[in-house]
Amino acid sequence: MTKLDCSVTNCLHNADNCCCKQAIIVDGQNAHDKCDTCCGSFDENREGAFKNVFKTPESRLEIDCEAVNCIYNEGRHCQAEHINVSGDGASRAEHTQCATFTER
Ligand code: SF4
Ligand code: SF4
Repeated sequence: MTKLDCSVTNCLHNADNCCCKQAIIVDGQNAHDKCDTCCGSFDENREGAFKNVFKTPESRLEIDCEAVNCIYNEGRHCQAEHINVSGDGASRAEHTQCATFTER
């Protein structure tokens, strides 16, 4: 389980800079840089339609990750202790990234 901080505050699943999902998918099969990755579980919270008041931020979650070139990737699963997902103002998943990606 990985601790995750996420600055994508307009994602439906974000509360208090954390993610409320129990598991996410990070994309970036051919990534050589963090900007080639993205959070595949991003959903835009259009016009703040959904408030997060009933959601509980998960401090640790399972991360399936396609970015096999990252040193933290083992068998398409993230083994990092802590990652940061960034992309404030994102309106599509492609605008987000795993800021912790480190090329092997
Ligand atoms: S962008 Fe991804 S990690 Fe961040 S809150 Fe949304 S689903 Fe969770
Ligand atoms: S740190 Fe690496 S393995 Fe973990 S989610 Fe980010 S890109 Fe994937």
